[in-house]
Parts: sequence; structure tokens; C-alpha cells
Amino acid sequence: MDTIADRVTALRERIATLENRYGRPGGAVTLVAVAKTHGAARVREAHAAGLSQFGESYVQEAVPKIESLADLPLTWHFVGRIQSNKTASIAQHFAWVHGIDRLRIAERLDAQRPAGLPPLDCCIEVNLSGEASKGGVAPRELPELAGAIAALPRLRLRGLMTLPEPAAGFERQRQPFARLARCLAELQPLVPGLDTLSMGMSDDMDAAIAEGATIVRIGTALFGPRES
Ligand SMILES: *Cc1c(COP(=O)(O)O)cnc(C)c1O
Repeated sequence: MDTIADRVTALRERIATLENRYGRPGGAVTLVAVAKTHGAARVREAHAAGLSQFGESYVQEAVPKIESLADLPLTWHFVGRIQSNKTASIAQHFAWVHGIDRLRIAERLDAQRPAGLPPLDCCIEVNLSGEASKGGVAPRELPELAGAIAALPRLRLRGLMTLPEPAAGFERQRQPFARLARCLAELQPLVPGLDTLSMGMSDDMDAAIAEGATIVRIGTALFGPRES
């Protein structure tokens, strides 16, 4: 059995290889380890192996885990669906929020971000498949929403995030990531400070890095299958 440390090493080597292959600067891609369903002990193991950025999707599961790991210098990313009754907990316990898709949620996070903490880094989730069941805004809605979020003082809009339909094959996987990269390029002249493309998970990380991901969100490839 390979250990979490083995997988951290293998992933970091793979990311470095892909950065090089696609003409990205070394260190351009940040690995966020998505620890949902996995206990604090696994996070400690991953931290001991050199990781410091961790992701969670469920507030109720995440908060006790974050509190029990408060002795470590970890940065926490909220990557799940944001329910409006959970925004206060998210604003208190996380440094990043990846899936903002309406102004109302951004306004709540802004109002609830504690004064002693730096502004909350955030990304807007973009829905590139047009499916109503999926979270995220349509690309044409981006300029208005990004402008409104950028004006909120306790949030720092960093860029865009997407969670595409699973697709087989590298070329098919690249398409939505290329579109997200174009959305960011179109937004950058309108909104200052955008530097983040949060895209790519265990099954499509390579395609995301090829298209310019700056954050990949990796769960299964690090921690193994999720516990239900
Ligand atoms: C669970 C999750 C991940 C990690 O997915 P893996 O396929 O296990 O790597 C990444 N992003 C989001 C938004 C998730 O919910």
C-alpha cells in the first residue's frame, strides 16, 4: 500500500512535469488537498508530507476538523455548495471560498468576515455546461457579478472556478478548462487583481494544468476513495 506521503510526492512530481510540459512557470500550480470525509489524522499525515492547503465541502464536518488542527499552520479552502445559513461559519473558519455564484452569498460572507482576519479570498463558480441542476453562473453574467463582488471590502475576488461534467479523454477534458481560461482573460481588464483559475480534480488534473489552472483541488488521488 502506498502512503499519503508517497502520493504527495508522486502528485508534486506530476504537477512539476506538467508545468514544464505546458510552459508554465515552476510552482504556478497550487495543490489543494480536498479532505472531505477523511479525518483529521489524514490531514496531519498530508501536512507532515509537506502540504498546507486543504479543502472541505461540508461545513458541519469541516469546522470541528479545522478546530482540532488549529495547532498546524494550514490554509482552508471551502469548495462545496454554499448554503446561506452556513455563510457565518465559512467566513470565520476559511481563508478561501471557491464556489460563489450569487451576490447575496458574497454580501453575507462580506458582512460576516471577522474584523481580525484578512479579506476572504474567493472565486466565482462558472457553469460551462448550461445545466440548470449545476451550480455556477453563465459566462455572460460574469462582468456584472465580478464587479459587484470586487467592490465588497471584506472579500478579495481572485478568479474563477469550475467543476465540469466528467469527460473521457484528455482533449475532451481540456475544452471546458480552455473556456474558463478565456472567461478569466476577458474579465481581467475589467476587474483588477484576478490571478486564479481553480480547476482540475483527480480525474482531470492534467487537462486543467495544460489550460492554465493555478489551483487544482485533489481528493481521491491523495486520500483514496471517500468514506461515506
Ligand atoms: C470533492 C471535490 C474535489 C475533489 O475531487 P476528487 O475527484 O476526489 O479529486 C474537488 N473539487 C470539488 C468542488 C469537490 O467537491
